[in-house]
Amino acid sequence: MNTTLKTDITVKDICDGFVYNELEGKGLFGLSGKLTIQPEYQRNYIYASDGGKKEMAVIESVLKEYPIGLIYFNKISDNNLEVLDGQQRITSLGRFVADKFAIKDENDMEQYFSGMAEDKKAKILETKLLIYECEGTESQIKEWFKTINISGVPLVAQELLNAIYSGPFVTLGKEEFSNSQNANIQKWSAYIKGSVNRQAFFERALDWVSKGNIDDYMSIHRYDKNIDELKTYFNSVIDWISSVFTDVESEMCGLEWGHLYEQYHQKAYNPTKVSAEVHKLYADPYIKNRKGIFEFILGGSVDTKLLEVRIFDEATKKTIYTTQTTKAKKKGKSNCPHCALGHDTNKEKIWSLAEMDADHVEAWSKGGATSIKNCEMLCKTHNRAKGNR
Ligand SMILES: [Zn+2]
Repeated sequence: MNTTLKTDITVKDICDGFVYNELEGKGLFGLSGKLTIQPEYQRNYIYASDGGKKEMAVIESVLKEYPIGLIYFNKISDNNLEVLDGQQRITSLGRFVADKFAIKDENDMEQYFSGMAEDKKAKILETKLLIYECEGTESQIKEWFKTINISGVPLVAQELLNAIYSGPFVTLGKEEFSNSQNANIQKWSAYIKGSVNRQAFFERALDWVSKGNIDDYMSIHRYDKNIDELKTYFNSVIDWISSVFTDVESEMCGLEWGHLYEQYHQKAYNPTKVSAEVHKLYADPYIKNRKGIFEFILGGSVDTKLLEVRIFDEATKKTIYTTQTTKAKKKGKSNCPHCALGHDTNKEKIWSLAEMDADHVEAWSKGGATSIKNCEMLCKTHNRAKGNR
């Protein structure tokens, strides 16, 4: 791979013919049309998020004559260059010169490029950038791109995979799953965590269809001219979740839905009953892990381990029962501490173990542990009364 360092390209040159696509959120071209700012293996523009602090910082750096770092171009031909690294910085420059955002001046006033003093404008436009033009085979360039990872925001795994397996399949996949204008994003967000710009949805779709082998799947389908299988599978999973669980709960977001779909989609569920059970479990104060509710129900409501229910084991109950009963008998009072405080006939009643239930002295909802020290046995009536508080 050959690299040539260019030191004479200015911000003005770069911004000549700059096109920013509002809809897709990306800078497209520059250098009088010779430069492709976002080739398909690049990620979407993310410097504008986070209140635009990053893009403002790029402009402030230029004004203060701070270096904004090396930029890499992939030289395809004399008239055709692609940005390998520096897309975010170049898009910031282009967007600023096109009056797409403002910076704050010394007096904290918003300042757009067109409203700036001529000398400041000139300073920005005449700033020279440090650019490496690289020439090499596609695989050399991609291998290198995988290794550098030097941009301000580190690439996430899926962004790297998109770079490595760039081609028609990635292009189509990103159009569907990495496009913030896609009206389905809101629905998908109920089940999938992460940001559309950082490829969270594309990654999940690939993860589901490939059963976790994203790398292999992308390699096999790299030159496919459609993403039908990917889309169909993804939609099947989403439709399945929303038909089984008619309510959307925040704990559903980020669960292993692909895995759950594989395991349970051939089982029949009654959505009305499922909904009632979800509500019942959500109202149960002894359930520690609400995220486990969905798999618990899918599995036939048997695996209570998924719920991490805070209960006392039988051995603890027996130990506490024996201690309480021995003491109570000595004092001639009921072995239910609440009954013992009362004035009715139960104040001296010795309940059997089966007539009592374990209770948290300090409620678990207030941080009380499910340990023997925090356990007391109450008669069933008092236990229920306490549980409802
Ligand atoms: Zn009692």
